[in-house]
Amino acid sequence: MPEKVDMFCYQCSQTAFETGCTVKGVCGKEATVARLQDNLLFSMKGISAYLYHARELGYTDPEVDAFIEKGFYSTLTNVNFDAGEFVKLATESGMMNIKAMQLLKKLTSKLTENLHQ
Ligand code: SF4
Repeated sequence: MPEKVDMFCYQCSQTAFETGCTVKGVCGKEATVARLQDNLLFSMKGISAYLYHARELGYTDPEVDAFIEKGFYSTLTNVNFDAGEFVKLATESGMMNIKAMQLLKKLTSKLTENLHQ
């Protein structure tokens, strides 16, 4: 049975033993924040996949774009270790995901409409 790891982060060059911080971050990051940051990054990857397809076909949403910038800044710069803020960002991420899906739905409707003309 694999050993349970409460924390794992290998986000930066300061990482413990050059492999990953597994107890607490060398930078002071706690396990909960590391998990919430991972959650946000996975969520933003999904949103980015929708946005990529929409953008290729000429559709964008400035609000979703701004959220992606904020999300990356909040995680990659390690300037904020407030777990509450990451919970708020997770909620916002859910809303932005819906907006990105709506963008693709609008796009799909338009493409379908063009096929029938
Ligand atoms: S961001 Fe902090 S917890 Fe993550 S690898 Fe760097 S020092 Fe470790």
